[in-house]
Amino acid sequence: MDGNLILVLGDQLSPEVSSLKAGDKHSDVVLLAEVAAEATYVKHHKKKIAFLLSAMRHFADELREDGWSVEYVRLDDPQNTGSLGAEVERISGRLNPARILVTEAGEWRLQKEARRWSDALGRPVDVLPDDRFLSSREEFTAWADGRKQLRMEYFYREMRRKTGLLMEGDKPAGDKWNYDAENRKPAADDLFMPEPLRTNPDKVTRQVLDLVALQFADHFGDLEPFWFAVTRADAEVAFENFVSQALPRFGDFQDAMLTGQSFLYHAVVSHYLNAGLLEPLAVCRRVERAYLDGSVPLNAAEGFIRQIIGWREFIRGIYWLKMPDYAGSNFFGSTRPLPDFYWTGKTDMACLAAAVGQTREEAYAHHIQRLMVTGNFAMLAGIDPHQVHEWYLAVYADAYEWVEMPNTLGMSQFADGGLLGSKPYAASGNYINKMSDYCGNCHFDVKRKTGEGACPFNSLYWHFMDRNRGQLGGNPRLGPVYRTWDRMTPAKQQDYRDSAEVILSEL
Ligand SMILES: Cc1cc2nc3c(=O)[nH]c(=O)nc-3n(C[C@H](O)[C@H](O)[C@H](O)COP(=O)(O)OP(=O)(O)OC[C@H]3O[C@@H](n4cnc5c(N)ncnc54)[C@H](O)[C@@H]3O)c2cc1C
Ligand code: SF4
Repeated sequence: MDGNLILVLGDQLSPEVSSLKAGDKHSDVVLLAEVAAEATYVKHHKKKIAFLLSAMRHFADELREDGWSVEYVRLDDPQNTGSLGAEVERISGRLNPARILVTEAGEWRLQKEARRWSDALGRPVDVLPDDRFLSSREEFTAWADGRKQLRMEYFYREMRRKTGLLMEGDKPAGDKWNYDAENRKPAADDLFMPEPLRTNPDKVTRQVLDLVALQFADHFGDLEPFWFAVTRADAEVAFENFVSQALPRFGDFQDAMLTGQSFLYHAVVSHYLNAGLLEPLAVCRRVERAYLDGSVPLNAAEGFIRQIIGWREFIRGIYWLKMPDYAGSNFFGSTRPLPDFYWTGKTDMACLAAAVGQTREEAYAHHIQRLMVTGNFAMLAGIDPHQVHEWYLAVYADAYEWVEMPNTLGMSQFADGGLLGSKPYAASGNYINKMSDYCGNCHFDVKRKTGEGACPFNSLYWHFMDRNRGQLGGNPRLGPVYRTWDRMTPAKQQDYRDSAEVILSEL
């Protein structure tokens, strides 16, 4: 062939990805490969695999319709070697392209591998920056350089200024940067509850579902019902549904949890954004428009935009800034294995059973479930953070290491010792009770602090604070917590320790 081979990875399904923008549809060939190694290096949820394979097949069709030549390697192709590097070698050996173009991978592991391809293949490999993000890796490094503490809020303000989103001149709309304090209302189940738009599987998706059922039967999660959008057009319709139905109340109920309601007022779009079916800036501009035309309040629009141009970008910046060492973070030196109920959902703790149960069904849990239920429990119980990370990476449809790892190791487990957050997100049952209705249906009593029948979060919380005092005692934000502990009688403190030890011994 005369032109180049453009490798498009499974989370780069956008015509705007830099490798395609740098290519020429008249002379280049696009390669998409379904490889077993990427689906099994952790055993991803069946729905996540089906979503990505179907989205890849649809994207390949769209590229062909747009005039590109596409080499598509199916998972069950007898010649498929099962790994990305070997597929690039096989196809480039056959086509003999001048160069190979690829947009940088979202995972350090794959990025490192891609950098070796040039030597291995004996032809140039151009690894291009992923410009679907607002802040390049270099910009983030420059922003972080010389700062004592990296805090999302300051980075977020830079991104607001850079994009002009919700800005009135050089001031934030409404004169406030952040409306988080207004976004902590518990939800009630008598409210009108929106639902994410469900897309019916077409013929291509049906074939993929059969394939996944056959090849990944032993992976976690329910494959059906499968309702994710698998094309850009359908993802956009699903997003419009969120804007009109749920966004107006997104802010108010962002932290709420409710039995039987897996999605509440959340967007359920992270898997579309992370795979390339939706563009981050475009969805933020759409939300800004909804605010400007008066259809959503400012606290909802600001809350949503902050998640995308603030948290999502900040998290990615931290990942690339700190890898590869970040992966080994274990500030508390936790070693306990992940309890089985993270996979089975079989536990008497109603909050955990609900979070794991819906994760199995939907490959989705919203932020507060991930942070304050499954994450909080794992941190309080001293679970090995690497096992916690592998669990989150496997079970959620939106999980890629660049976004999952800092959220898990940093935000949720405090395993990075406070790089990402100023204090651990540790909470007793009281917080879960305030933000959800789980406790009313639980075997345990959230009001009981210790002993038989007491909510396990209560004694585990104090056990965590007590056993990690060496690392946390000097944190000014935890001063009031330790003062409360110090005011307890020694007998009360021992009661907490003993209760927690019983729970831990039974995990
Ligand atoms: C332990 C843990 C693990 C997580 N793992 C992932 C992951 O693997 N992939 C992932 O995309 N998100 C992850 N998150 C962040 C967040 O929970 C999800 O982005 C969110 O729940 C996705 O649901 P949604 O689309 O309904 O989001 P909404 O609540 O509607 O928020 C809108 C969008 O904001 C973005 N966003 C919000 N919070 C974050 C955040 N902390 N980091 C990055 N983006 C954010 C997402 O793109 C999301 O789609 C994790 C959070 C925690 C605490
Ligand atoms: S009582 Fe405790 S374990 Fe039960 S749902 Fe409430 S917080 Fe969870």
